[in-house]
Amino acid sequence: MTRPEFYDEGALVAVLTTQPLDRLLDYKAPEGGAMLGAFVEVPLGPRKVLGIVWGPGRGDWDIKKVRSVIRVLDAAPMRAEMRTFLLKAAEYTLTPMPAMLRLATRAPGLGDPPSMRKIYRRGEGEPERSTDARRRVMETLDEYGDLSFTLKELSEMAGVTSSVVKGLVKQGVVSEEDAPRDVPFRRLDPSLPGKALTDDQAAGAAMLAEAVRSETYGTTLLRGVTGSGKTEVYLEAVAACLAQGRQALVLLPEIALTAEFLKRVQARFGARPAEWHSGATMTERRRIWRMVGQGGAQLVIGARSALFLPYQNLGLIVVDEEHDTSYKQEDGVLYNARDMAVLRASICGAHVVLASATPSLESWVNAEAGKYKRLELTSRFGPAVMPTMGTIDMRAAALPSDRWVSPDLQKAVQARIDAGEQAMLFINRRGYAPITLCRACGHQIACDQCDARMVEHRFLKRLMCHQCGETKPMPNICPSCGAEDRLAPVGPGVERLGEEAATLWPDARIATLSSDMYGSARALKAEIESIAQGGADIVIGTQLVAKGHNFPNLTLVGVIDADLGLQGSDLRAAERTFQLMRQVAGRAGRADKPGTALLQTYQPEHPVIRAILAGDEEGFWRAEAAQREAAGVPPYGRMAGIILSGPDVAAVFDIANHLARADGPLRQVGAQVYGPAPAPIARVRGRHRVRMLVKADKGVALQGALRKWVGQVQIKGDIRLAIDIDPQSF
Ligand code: ADP
Ligand code: ZN
Repeated sequence: MTRPEFYDEGALVAVLTTQPLDRLLDYKAPEGGAMLGAFVEVPLGPRKVLGIVWGPGRGDWDIKKVRSVIRVLDAAPMRAEMRTFLLKAAEYTLTPMPAMLRLATRAPGLGDPPSMRKIYRRGEGEPERSTDARRRVMETLDEYGDLSFTLKELSEMAGVTSSVVKGLVKQGVVSEEDAPRDVPFRRLDPSLPGKALTDDQAAGAAMLAEAVRSETYGTTLLRGVTGSGKTEVYLEAVAACLAQGRQALVLLPEIALTAEFLKRVQARFGARPAEWHSGATMTERRRIWRMVGQGGAQLVIGARSALFLPYQNLGLIVVDEEHDTSYKQEDGVLYNARDMAVLRASICGAHVVLASATPSLESWVNAEAGKYKRLELTSRFGPAVMPTMGTIDMRAAALPSDRWVSPDLQKAVQARIDAGEQAMLFINRRGYAPITLCRACGHQIACDQCDARMVEHRFLKRLMCHQCGETKPMPNICPSCGAEDRLAPVGPGVERLGEEAATLWPDARIATLSSDMYGSARALKAEIESIAQGGADIVIGTQLVAKGHNFPNLTLVGVIDADLGLQGSDLRAAERTFQLMRQVAGRAGRADKPGTALLQTYQPEHPVIRAILAGDEEGFWRAEAAQREAAGVPPYGRMAGIILSGPDVAAVFDIANHLARADGPLRQVGAQVYGPAPAPIARVRGRHRVRMLVKADKGVALQGALRKWVGQVQIKGDIRLAIDIDPQSF
């Protein structure tokens, strides 16, 4: 038996803090001592900061001069497993440890005493003397069922003062309770009966359950067309995991996905799991963080950062829609949650299930190589069949420049409306129009801070930069030539398509789904549910609708511009387009009605478009894999992107050129540098961005060489350097 390491009062301990320092700091253990891994508050200059007892101090100090840990926080110490995970993830992504620790402590009020905060939810009955304000509160609560809110949240959502809510509390129609800070989640019961599975599904479920029970690390790629029952199958793996008393994590790419999903989990296990996402209130986050650490949450459904929760006993990680690009965090710590899930599981002996109808090329290649087990579901559940796919040749449609729905597509949509079914029009462009052009001088309105056009968002009544989020009012006069009333929208965005649809089908109920049209994730969720229940005839949407929503009455998907993703030189363009088009098409024909997907394209003979139509996934991936192998790029070679940025372009290039010449450490391992060149988006938020790509053979330990290489220059002043291992575009 090894005893957990413990430091007595006054002993020197090394503390990792969340502050951007490149070393551990020594402190004296406080009164009562401290465990290895304990969360502590330490003095740093005049401030108090959060840290973790990381090991023994170095001891070469005059002990009298070393400051003491202020206090040990009331939270379970970080487990060895978690510390190893953070270290390895930091090593892989070349991230400083303080930044990793910040990812792992994203629960506010860590260690605070339970506060006196109250939460509010629907009570019994109806308000007396109902006023408009009171009605709005009740409607808001009714809309969200058994969810609860803080006073501030509820009054803001309903647009009332807090006294209105308090008044309703007095009447008992709104209930007020102490915030459920450290209350465990209701027990999920894995022994409740699941759905009767088909033979294929049952065999898959048995295989996963056995893998989970082995309590050793392994990864399974669960592939199956949309609607084949992948979710049903991996829920059985979750059941096996819970039955063993271990925790399970299901990662989903989009918050909007979770409403339907949570219901399914509740139906299967009799209670709601913990839900971790950016829309969660601070109170909810704190509760989840603590309960995950204490074992009071058996199952977490979450966005990618749920990987960094302090699980006590993790036995299974499911990464649903594993190909989804939103698993790659592109801000701060650059990591891919799919890869980090595999890392985390390998450390704690958990099983990983990567589920997708259109796996990433990386996972497909790993499965081919035997690193991942393969599990396939080949047909849709029940009578549902895969949609019929077709193209519409836009050269023949000869549309005027402000119209995007071809006559063929229009007819097809009309036929669905007549039959009482739903149709979806898909366009992967937010806003009203991608370009705002001056008809007098040809000027296109661009962001002041970025190398990007401003996109008109008519719904918000503003122009928006999709790079930095900056908005400004739509001008009346051209900022370049001063001409009045000559600015015109060019090209379609989802809002403009909605407008065209309204003129084509004036009597239809049209729902336009775009993230900026909904004030909150909850409102978007509610809209998606309403559509699923038949609240719209035509759904118009961006990428947001491509992801896993189940609209049983939807039988037609029309893709407005199937060529969009094929432009540009990105080597992943084909893979992305293939995945996206197959996913979107998969929205059609989910229940007992067969579906159709029509792709509008100017190049119906393009090999990717043909592959999408043929549905020959293996063939497509083989061809893609062969091309990547020939080019020596991921997953057949290793790659890293280095982005240098700063306000002064010459200074940024100076450092980049210097680095490019000093490539000795890279050449030592046989890696090459390409660039520097302006990054794909050359200026963001006023910072010029210069990119280099480093390429190496698969077996090369690239991180060490990269560290040595960039360590040769001192990055000072306004300049920043970011290293992106396995960049999304190359
Ligand atoms: P996927 O995750 O592959 O898209 P789902 O698990 O969501 O597929 O299944 C698609 C639909 O079919 C869901 O509504 C699901 O409840 C239903 N379904 C799948 N398998 C079964 C089954 N064995 N019994 C009953 N319904 C099923
Ligand atoms: Zn901008």
